[in-house]
Amino acid sequence: MNGRLQARPPITLALSKGRIFDETLPLLADAGIEVPDDLEATRKLILPTSDPDLRIIIVRASDVPTYVQYGAADLGVAGKDVLNEHQPRHSGGLYQPIDLGIARCRMCVAVPVGFDYEAAVYQGARLRVATKYVQAAREHFAAKGVHVDIIKLYGSMELAPLVGLADAIVDLVSTGGTLKANNLTPVEDIATISSRLIVNQAALKTRRERLEPLLDAFRRASGSEDV
Ligand code: ATP
Ligand code: MG
Repeated sequence: MNGRLQARPPITLALSKGRIFDETLPLLADAGIEVPDDLEATRKLILPTSDPDLRIIIVRASDVPTYVQYGAADLGVAGKDVLNEHQPRHSGGLYQPIDLGIARCRMCVAVPVGFDYEAAVYQGARLRVATKYVQAAREHFAAKGVHVDIIKLYGSMELAPLVGLADAIVDLVSTGGTLKANNLTPVEDIATISSRLIVNQAALKTRRERLEPLLDAFRRASGSEDV
């Protein structure tokens, strides 16, 4: 042994490709952190940053909470939609200190234009609802006392009512353009969605001195209060 301390791995931030990555970069830039690799040009899943003590891993949006919960990532950025579906939901190990206010949208019930949703609900018809957001949909319709058959899909929910798979969908809507293009219309809001910074609870204790400045930077960059 030469007496040198073994280097600890850098702080690891889990992000998903697409809007979360794109909208997190400016927050990192505000904190003086640049991400040199062009994500489109590289297939690398581990990206260094200009901060030698911070690296980024690229995972599926719905896998971000899993990486953080198990401590494979210290931090992550995940939509409220994803966090709400994550199992086990009230797991220890996941701390959600900051609403970053990015990737904003609404979670809605949508139906084909011309479908009388109010009447269907009023008549107590059993609605077939296709969605990726099974938990959120179940809770929403249970609270309304509406009987539904939930059909789990992994994407392209807009298609389901068009081919007779479902009467309605629960999906995320920002401009409404995709719904419109498929002759669907939102009929009910379920929740407003934005992305949160999530932190591994053990890491927050053992690596506090390294994580706190980063959390502060995210707080400042997002103009967010602690929640
Ligand atoms: P994958 O493509 O891996 O199946 P995904 O489709 O959920 O996952 P994205 O489309 O990149 O991945 O969405 C990531 C997050 O961005 C979502 O979890 C949600 O919080 C937010 N998001 C999704 N759709 C919209 C939208 N239309 N407008 C704004 N934010 C959205
Ligand atoms: Mg997607």
